[in-house]
Amino acid sequence: MQPKSTRIPMIVAALVLGASLPSLAAGPARPVAPVVALNAVEIADLTFMREEEKLARDLYLALGERWGDTPFAAIANAEQQHMNALLRMLVKYRLPDPAAGALIGEFRDPDLQALHDELLEKAGVSALEALRVGGLVEEIDIRDNRDAAAATVKADLDTVYASLTCGSRNHLRAFAAGVTAASGQAYVAQYLPQAEVDAILVTPMERCGRP
Ligand code: MN
Ligand code: MN
Repeated sequence: MQPKSTRIPMIVAALVLGASLPSLAAGPARPVAPVVALNAVEIADLTFMREEEKLARDLYLALGERWGDTPFAAIANAEQQHMNALLRMLVKYRLPDPAAGALIGEFRDPDLQALHDELLEKAGVSALEALRVGGLVEEIDIRDNRDAAAATVKADLDTVYASLTCGSRNHLRAFAAGVTAASGQAYVAQYLPQAEVDAILVTPMERCGRP
């Protein structure tokens, strides 16, 4: 299940068409509007990422209850902060919140709903499988946040996506350490290239913008 698979053609199409890129021909003394509207790709990405962070939060809340003493509860708190950061952007750009009124485990995006349900079932098998599911969610989150950052020229969105990607690297480190502690084996990449995952795992936990 690749939640962004249906969105990539749209993004590529928008990039080919040069969707809403700021004009390089702008002359001097051109006034700058305080809040520039987002283009269709930025709206789709922001909306999707708000629900993808919810997927992480909801899964980790459920897995924390199911498996007890694990990193899940602490990381679920971080995912709530990630959801809050994206909600602030939705509010800023006057966009509807796809997570409004949704219960834990409920998603508007059918791909995210299917991914959530599949991973919840997989993580019910054992605590080790649950930790692997956590790692998979973080790998997906790293790629999707980075793709969303690459598809926007808005500095505020870029900053939020970079911060969330940083958090995801830390979460991946935590889940990978859990997998190794529980299995005695090195963490095997599930979505990103192994070399990219290894490069993250050999570097220490990051501050992610905190002082
Ligand atoms: Mn997150
Ligand atoms: Mn995370």
